[in-house]
Amino acid sequence: MSYPSLKIDVKKLEHNTRILVDRCAKHNISVAAVSKVFCALPELVEAMIRGGASYIAESRIENLKKIEHLNIPKILLRIPMLSNVDDVIKYADISLNSEYTVIKALSEAALKHGMTHDIILMVDLGDLREGVWMDDAVEFVDKLIGLKGINLKGIGTNLTCYGAVIPKVDNLSKLLEIAKAIEDKHSIKLDIISGGNSSSIYLIDDGSIPKGINNVRLGESIVLGNETAYGNRIKDSYNDCFVLSAEIVELKEKPSIPIGEIGVDAFGEKPVFEDRGLRKRAILAIGKQDVKVDGLIPMDDRLIVLGASSDHMIIDVTDSSTKYQVGDHIDFLLDYGALLALSTSKYVSKNII
Ligand SMILES: *Cc1c(COP(=O)(O)O)cnc(C)c1O
Repeated sequence: MSYPSLKIDVKKLEHNTRILVDRCAKHNISVAAVSKVFCALPELVEAMIRGGASYIAESRIENLKKIEHLNIPKILLRIPMLSNVDDVIKYADISLNSEYTVIKALSEAALKHGMTHDIILMVDLGDLREGVWMDDAVEFVDKLIGLKGINLKGIGTNLTCYGAVIPKVDNLSKLLEIAKAIEDKHSIKLDIISGGNSSSIYLIDDGSIPKGINNVRLGESIVLGNETAYGNRIKDSYNDCFVLSAEIVELKEKPSIPIGEIGVDAFGEKPVFEDRGLRKRAILAIGKQDVKVDGLIPMDDRLIVLGASSDHMIIDVTDSSTKYQVGDHIDFLLDYGALLALSTSKYVSKNII
């Protein structure tokens, strides 16, 4: 194994997917498993499929290309770029949309290739990221109905992303009202009413999710086992599907306060230090170029993360009962930002166990 290593337990990932799929199924809700945080590594996507996901959802075309061979409907999460609508209809079965110009371009691309492309119209219920504003959604659909090559598969919303708005019975009921108004006005049936992401799970668990929401798009809850509305753990889920392992390259006893006048560090910040006397410090071969250091949680809970520069991370190992040595590896649990950065870094090896 080469280090730093992102160790991935696909059985645990499959388990996490399955428990969420089962929980949603009780309320007739399908799961689009979101693969963007691990850049859609095919073996991991396969684990999500074994776990029962109905769709795979991805934000980037480059990642969808990697899983073209996997037989499951794929959703493009990020609003498509006008400049690559041809790839969108080629690699995604469904795309999330909010702009007429883009949908019209998708329609033309679909017609050119003799295909029909499914879209989910995103509705902004107040979180202020993507979507047609809620009051304009029904009228917006008027323009879409005549477009050839495009099928309005459903509507959806995204919450707790930019504005941190929590999904509730009232805002999700609004989504259902909009769906009903669209269906009545145009005598169509919407297949998918997609009621959000990992922040919607608590409504499923407490049984209050409004009836009619029939899909959720789940990323963090599957990969880390976190419910993201209130930051609770998902019952019976694993938090260690992904573990970072980094190698000790220096281990020495040093004072806890630097010697000399304190200026700014390599990132322009003025550090503060607490005098704890002589401490045993390990330098790990990983740094800010690979990871968001404050998103790492040492699995040995007696270790203290002191900080990092681009390529070095410093850990206080004094209180640990393990007698670490140069060449040993230290393991960390991850938050979402850390996992995202590690997955994207080409300097971190990905090892499926
Ligand atoms: C990333 C993303 C998700 C998944 O969000 P999680 O909080 O990780 O569950 C869902 N929908 C859209 C549109 C996204 O971009």
